[in-house]
Parts: sequence; C-alpha cells; structure tokens
Amino acid sequence: MNDKSIPASARVVIVGGGVMGAGLAYHLAEEGWSDVLLVEKGELTSGSTWHAAGQCPSFIADYNMAKIHDYGVKLYPRLEELTGQYVSWHGCGGIRFAYQPAEVEWFHRVAGVGKLIGFECEIIDPDKIRQLVPYANIDGVLAGAWTITDGHVDPAGVCNAMARGARQMGANIVTHNRVLDIKARPSGEWEVVTEQGTVIAEHVVNAAGCYARQVSQMVGTDIPMINMKHTYLVTDTVPEFLQRDEEMPVIRDPYPSSYYRQEQKSALIGIYEMANSEECWTHRGGWPEWKSENELFDPDFDNLAPFIERVMERIPMWSELGIKRVVCGAIPHTPDSNPFLGPAAGLRNFWHCNGASIGIAAGAGSGKYLAQWMVHGDADINMAGVDPRRFSGFAPGDYTKAKSHEDYEHMYKLHLPGEERPAGRKLRTTPLYDVLEAKGAVFTEVNGWERAKWYSLDGREEEIGFRHNNTFDVVAEECRAVRERVGLMELSTFAKYEVCGPDAGKLLERISANRMPTRVGGVTLTHYLAGNGRINGESTVTRLDEDVYYVLSGATSEERDLSILRLGVEPGEDVSITNITDDWGVLVVAGPKARETLQPLTESDLSNESFRWLSGMEISLAGVTVRALRVNYVGELGWELHCRMDDLPSVYQAVWEAGQEYGIAHFGTYAMNSLRMEKAYKGWTTELTNEITMVEADIQRFFREDKGEFCGRQATLAAQAGGIEQKLVYFEVDKGDNDVVGGEPVLVNDKAVGVTTSGGYGHHTGRSLGFAYVPPQFSQPDSQFDVLLFGQRRVATVLSEPVWDPQNNRLRA
Ligand SMILES: Cc1cc2nc3c(=O)[nH]c(=O)nc-3n(C[C@H](O)[C@H](O)[C@H](O)COP(=O)(O)OP(=O)(O)OC[C@H]3O[C@@H](n4cnc5c(N)ncnc54)[C@H](O)[C@@H]3O)c2cc1C
Repeated sequence: MNDKSIPASARVVIVGGGVMGAGLAYHLAEEGWSDVLLVEKGELTSGSTWHAAGQCPSFIADYNMAKIHDYGVKLYPRLEELTGQYVSWHGCGGIRFAYQPAEVEWFHRVAGVGKLIGFECEIIDPDKIRQLVPYANIDGVLAGAWTITDGHVDPAGVCNAMARGARQMGANIVTHNRVLDIKARPSGEWEVVTEQGTVIAEHVVNAAGCYARQVSQMVGTDIPMINMKHTYLVTDTVPEFLQRDEEMPVIRDPYPSSYYRQEQKSALIGIYEMANSEECWTHRGGWPEWKSENELFDPDFDNLAPFIERVMERIPMWSELGIKRVVCGAIPHTPDSNPFLGPAAGLRNFWHCNGASIGIAAGAGSGKYLAQWMVHGDADINMAGVDPRRFSGFAPGDYTKAKSHEDYEHMYKLHLPGEERPAGRKLRTTPLYDVLEAKGAVFTEVNGWERAKWYSLDGREEEIGFRHNNTFDVVAEECRAVRERVGLMELSTFAKYEVCGPDAGKLLERISANRMPTRVGGVTLTHYLAGNGRINGESTVTRLDEDVYYVLSGATSEERDLSILRLGVEPGEDVSITNITDDWGVLVVAGPKARETLQPLTESDLSNESFRWLSGMEISLAGVTVRALRVNYVGELGWELHCRMDDLPSVYQAVWEAGQEYGIAHFGTYAMNSLRMEKAYKGWTTELTNEITMVEADIQRFFREDKGEFCGRQATLAAQAGGIEQKLVYFEVDKGDNDVVGGEPVLVNDKAVGVTTSGGYGHHTGRSLGFAYVPPQFSQPDSQFDVLLFGQRRVATVLSEPVWDPQNNRLRA
C-alpha cells in the first residue's frame, strides 16, 4: 500500500530532483505530459545542484550544446515571472580570454554560432577588456569573447522554480523518498519501487546526477560517467566592489584554468586544476552512498594553490583578501564532455537525463529537448552528440576514467582540429594497428576504435590548427591514388550486425524507409525513421542468403542501431540479431585499378557482368572467406572486403602486394571526407539527423512509400504534401586556406538564413565544398549566399550535381 503522496501509476517517473530532473519535469508538463512523478531521495537540489556556482555561459562552440545553453540563458531571467519563484538572475555577461591567435580564430567561429542561435558574442580587444574589468591585469591577453547577455543564477532557485512550474502544470513531486529498484514488467511498463510504495510507469527517466550509474544498474545497464571533485572559493568583501554598482562580467581564463566573478560584494573563484584532478568517493570506487546529501569534500589546496596564484596575478586586488567560504563538491563528467539525454541502449522507455558537468546552464535546455524527444518522438535539435547510445559497452571503466579526467583538466583548453588527446587510447584496435602504424598511419579515436586519418610518409606530425596544414598535400596524394589508381583503407570501425531468421526481412522492412534487397546478393542503403518522419539512423543492408541479412552502420551508431533493430522485433517473431562489430574487420579497395588488383586473388569472377555495383557475395579471396560488397563512400570502382578479424592481416597483405603493380596507396578518413564531398555523399549525424525528414534532406529516392506501411511513412508523406521550410543544398565556396566544417552561418545580406552541416576540400577537383540547410528559395542551382567561416564571409554557389562523376559511371565501370 503506497503512502498518500505516491500514486499507483504515472506516465513518467523521474528519478532525481536536481536541476536536470526538475528541468525535465517542467518541460514534459509544458509539452502536455503532466502525469509526471518526480521522486527525490532527499530535498530538491540536495545532490550537486545546491552547491554549484551558477554560471550560465552562452560561449559554447558545439552548435547543438550551444542551443541547449542558450535556451536556459533566455528562460532563467523569465522564470520568476513564469513560476513566482525568485532565481536571482544576474545578466552580467562573460568574457573568455584568448592568449594565442588560434583562440582568437576560434572565438570568431563561436561568434558565428552565436549569430545562428541568437546570442550576442563580440570579440573585444584588450582596451575594451580593461574598460569592462578595470582592475584586471591582462598582460598577454590578445582578445576576449564577450558574451553580453549571459550571466549567473542561484542554482537552487532555478531548480526550485522549474519544480514549482512543473507542479503548477500538474506534475507531482515527492521528496525524501528513495527509488530502491526498477523492474521491467511483461507489459512493457516499469515498476518503480520507492521507499513510500511502488509506482507503475510507462516511462522512467534516470536524472540521478552522481548516482546515475547506480540507478542504471537497477535496470542492468551502465553509463560512462564519473564524479569529479570541483572547488570554488568565495573571498571576503572586495572594497572596490562596494564602490561600483555595475557587476563585473564572469571571466573564463585559460591561464589559471579558472572562472572568476563577483559574488555579491565578494569574489568567487572556481578552479579546474590541470593535473592530479580527483574523483569523489574514491574509497567506494567513486560510488556515492545513498545517505549522502548536501555533501562537500576537503579540497586539496596544495594542488589548487598554483592556479589560485595565477588568478591573483590577474586580479591583484584580491590577493590580500581572506577566504570566507570554500565549496568542494561532486560534479559528473563524461568522456566527451556532453551529458546523456535520450534513451538507454536496448531498453524501451527508459531514458537518461544525466552526466551534466555544466548542468545549471544546461538544465532547462536539456529538459526541453529531451521532453520533445519523449513526447513527439524526436527533438528539434540534433541529439546525436548527447544520445547516451553514442558510446558502446566497452566505455564504462578505464576509458571513462581516463577521458573524463582529461575532460575536466582541459575545461579551458582549446582543442584544435587534428589534435589527438592521449587519454583512453588504443582500447579498440584491430590486428592491423601495428602494421598500419609502421606505414605511417596517424590515428584518431572514434567510439574507442583507433582509425587512420592520414598517412605521414616522412614521419612528420600534423601541424594542428584551423587552416590547411602539412597534411593538405599528403591527403591530395592519397585522393589521387583513389581517383587514378587504387587506394586501400581499413574501415573496421563499422558497426556490423547479422539479422537472421524467417522474420528477419519482415523486421527490416518494418523499420526501414527503403525496400530490402529482393534477391540474394542485393545491397540497399536505408534509413530508419522516427514515427514523426525524422531520420533516426542509416544502414547498408546486404542480403547474404534467403533469411540472412548483413547490416552495417557508422561507428558511433553501434548501440543506437542495435537498439532500433532489437526493439523493432514484435512478439512471436523468429529473428536473431547478433552484433559482430568486434569480430569482423573491413578493408576498402577503391579506384580504377581495384578490379585488376583483386581479381588475381580470387577465383570468383569480379567482372562487371558477374559482380555488379550494389551487390555483395561471399567469395574466397587470398584463401579467406570474405564478404565482398561492391559499394564504397568515395565514388570509384571498388569493393569493401569484410572478413573475420583474425583473417584481416592476411587479406590486407595479399591486397597490398597485388596492388603494388598498380601503385596502390593507403588512404585515411581525411581523404575519404574529401572524396565523399566530391561525390556529394551525405553523412549520418551531419546532414542526416533526427531534426529533419527525408524530404528536407533531399533523399526521397530512398523512401519507398509503395512497399506498404513502415515506421515514419505517414509522416514523410505528410511532409511531402505539406511543403518544407528548409532544404539541404550542396554548394561550392570560394577557395581559401580553410573549408567548411559544419555549424557555420549561411548569410543572406546580414541575416542568418541557414546553417552548414559539413564540408571539405575536394582535392581531385580543386574545389571547396559543403552542405547546408537553407530555406527552399535559396536551394535552386546557382543560387548564391555567404558562408561565415571564422568571421570571414565567403561566397557560396549552390551546385546541381556532384562535382565528380555525377552519372556514377565510375562506380558502374
Ligand atoms: C563546485 C561546483 C560548481 C559548479 N558550478 C557550476 C556552474 O557554475 N554552472 C553550471 O552549469 N554547473 C555547475 N556545476 C555543475 C552542476 O552542479 C551539475 O552539473 C548539476 O547540478 C547536475 O545536476 P543533476 O540534476 O544532474 O544532479 P543532482 O543535482 O545531483 O541531482 C540528482 C538528484 O538525484 C537524487 N537521487 C539520486 N538517486 C536517487 C534515487 N535512487 N532515488 C531518488 N532520488 C535520487 C539525488 O539525491 C539528487 O538530488 C558545479 C558543480 C560543482 C561541484
């Protein structure tokens, strides 16, 4: 029998009443789901939220995370009016300091994001900084990024205000009630066992902050997150502040790796120590005790002192002041800095809303966009970067520890394109790693895998930065090999599944927008759609036998697409789904000499008549059973060769030797990007995302409305009939010493009308290329607009067809 305050059922149970849980409850109610029960084991805010410093920066380089922050920055000043709860919003703005020219360049990029999203970011010179912070010593500072309308807030106030607003809209919030267990019911619902009774819920959300791993484990899963110690201190009153009405902006300063600001008439200094960062509760392996509430830790002043001294160098007038308060609290960190907002891998209606390191700033936006996903089937922003399924099962553990410490220590470090972070590396390697490294491969990491970016033939390292660098000519040569001779690439990072059984085809048809191959040996590119027609995933499917399908997805989609496949199976269906990602390796052999290279290695006929483009079959090659697929992402004659991981070295060696006669060369992902841009091949998570439909992405040739009902069909038909407000265009931009990377504003006159999604330099055609979403009136071939690249306007012209082989003659050769 439940206590009075606990209902027997609720549509959604949220576990955790910090800023993330409260933000979600508020926005679920706002979206119309008010049958929400939020359960908190202590008081609201008694986890990490109460002790946060409350800064809400707009300055975020990631386009989608910036949208999440921006939403909060715009909501918080209005929250009191909306809910009646005081939140103490201080719109004092913020300044981030730059010490290197590259940081200033980066500021221009962030200012471009601001222009897109609608937050004000001005790049200011040292004189202006002195004017805004007259008592600062800014020796060495080259410029500041001044975000004029952000500020700081009372974290408990914001959390309580959103909780209050949620209650006003009908949500139920129960405190001092711990969730003890969560069980799946045969009906698909969840049984949430709390201290005050059991609740049956359609959806459960893990918003448990530092306890998110414990709550995940209640349902048999885990997430890659750790709890770091983070410290700020508050000084005695600053006499100079008593004489000023105007509040100083929040300073974010890489030199002391700190933020500092005015806290009433005192100074507040927060430090991200750049070495020896520590986790909380180390004696318990990082796991908090359930009874922990409002807990603080002893800071390590020896480790913090050098950073505090640097802050005093910057603001000398603070150096004589006493310290009146020190707050060292727990803060969640994840391997890539982003929170977890979305479904848990493999579970239906179990969601994550946790892992936030800047959760006060992100709490409202996280709640808004996750609520959209839960209520409408998808969010209005690209959620790929926050989807909890972006990491595979290997991630919790050493990888997460290493990467998350690094993330904490690098909070104020600029990461330049091409830079490789050392932590958590070489966890997922293939038997070819050493071989390729010996041939000059320079690796990057994706979902734990090591993948070659380019080949440094003379041993030089990449000169990292935002401009074309020493890899430019090398990559051009790699591209030339693919276009003119034959190129070899290892692409074992693909997620790979076998979908087998009498109902395998039925399952795949039901979840796919394209028709599955009707004949054995057929290959199909297909998209998975949400019920609302948005694009949820992309796979290549090969029919290997009557009831055997080989499904390939991108490296970061491993868990996501596995979930789509497994959750798509209906009761009574006879289908098995096996994830063979780690067991199978892949080589790409592409270029006009690909056939001549491979034919001597196999007795199977590789001629065009016997082995057509978009077909696949098992063949024996170099004495190894290989799944050969005549597809590639670079737009040339070629095959992907899939074989058991153990066999990969011998297949590689045979291909490498056979290709010598034709000038075979390795190529990496830099070259692949250049080659796919020349072919106008769209990418999952860049062009194809959960924000858009197939109609907007202009990929309707993969939408087979005539094959019967499937997920997202009706919504896509409606989008076709109803017209669209944005359309994907392929364009060429005036050449310069850098290229489109995505997230840049598309300007018409001075107005941002669209956004770029990805781009790159087409080495073989000598053209700088990109994709962008724009209003349909700018999508006609030869339409022109500007793209703002690092603060410079570059003229872009819409192209009607790929700049390389528009008729696919080379693929069909
Ligand atoms: C010193 C410091 C300064 C910071 N400054 C800033 C800042 O300036 N700006 C910023 O944006 N962020 C800042 N942060 C980070 C911020 O505090 C966190 O990102 C944010 O509070 C996380 O919110 P949350 O809701 O995920 O977690 P929490 O606030 O910890 O909430 C989770 C809640 O879940 C409850 N819970 C857990 N398990 C159960 C269960 N089984 N049953 C019921 N309830 C449960 C807990 O009691 C807790 O109240 C700072 C952090 C620290 C340590």
